[in-house]
Amino acid sequence: MNRENKFIGILFECCNVYRRIYINKEKNAYEGKCPKCNGEIKVKIGLGGTETRFFSAR
Ligand SMILES: [Zn+2]
Repeated sequence: MNRENKFIGILFECCNVYRRIYINKEKNAYEGKCPKCNGEIKVKIGLGGTETRFFSAR
């Protein structure tokens, strides 16, 4: 079974908002937007998946 997460929790530092962002179609990164300022964020997934669960957008 592939237990790779479909989303990760992320803290948008720009607006201090916590939100989940989801894996993209290519399954090589998590992508999302800040709900307040619409700032985009992309978190690449390394080989073996990503270990860090929290990221900060600026
Ligand atoms: Zn923001």
